[in-house]
Amino acid sequence: MNLSHLRKKISAALSRRTKLEKELLNCRLRMIKGSLIKRYIVCQKPGCRCARGEKHGPFFYMNIISDGKTIQKYVGKNESLLKKLKEYKNFQDKMREIRKITSSLEKLWSQFQEALTE
Ligand SMILES: [Zn+2]
Repeated sequence: MNLSHLRKKISAALSRRTKLEKELLNCRLRMIKGSLIKRYIVCQKPGCRCARGEKHGPFFYMNIISDGKTIQKYVGKNESLLKKLKEYKNFQDKMREIRKITSSLEKLWSQFQEALTE
């Protein structure tokens, strides 16, 4: 890769990372560290549609770590809780992307060094 191409790639990676970091910085909601689980159930009522495969749900639960153990709690239609769980997922996704960019930048910086001629 030539220098100008590397400069463009590095610059794009830096911009993307900064954009993600600013998004994290603008977060207003306190997250809940848990993963959202959707469950569908089959009831026991005779002739119910769920017996034909149209299960009831989704019912929302969350997996959270408590005292080092993963426990599952019912979330139900608690909108505020759902929002905080989605925010956490969003946060995690962005952090993952930031780490990926940072590691790709390390490679790019070393390629950049090698492409310098003097
Ligand atoms: Zn049913």
